[in-house]
Amino acid sequence: MSGKNGGKTLRALGRGDLAPLTPLQRHVTQEEGTERAFTGEYWREKRAGMYHCVVCGRGLFASRDKYDSGTGWPSFDRPAGAEVVAEETDRKLFIARTEVHCAWCGAHQGHVFNDGPRTTGKRYCINSASLKFVPDAEGLSGDD
Ligand code: FE
Repeated sequence: MSGKNGGKTLRALGRGDLAPLTPLQRHVTQEEGTERAFTGEYWREKRAGMYHCVVCGRGLFASRDKYDSGTGWPSFDRPAGAEVVAEETDRKLFIARTEVHCAWCGAHQGHVFNDGPRTTGKRYCINSASLKFVPDAEGLSGDD
């Protein structure tokens, strides 16, 4: 059961697919940090595949929903499933933003804005540092 691209059961990465967090990954996911624009691993990524939570391995965003927003961060018009991310109002800046985190482990992912493309009107602006991309062709280890 791969469940990729929005199936009911979005597959999580298996044990051993996730490395210990780097300092940047820890800062972004645990302290609601933000990587610098145009510096992350995935803002230019165009291959087909799934973007998983770098902390718990759950599939959160699918490549088919990714688009080039020009911001320098991976941008998606929707999450990979209905309940894979949760949102919360973030009042750290003068203007309230909507924070996005992994629904399973709470890892901060980024923010969602209402200036997205016509498909959904949403722009999920996500840090590369909170994601682990697995290209479709590569497949996943484990058997759960
Ligand atoms: Fe997670």
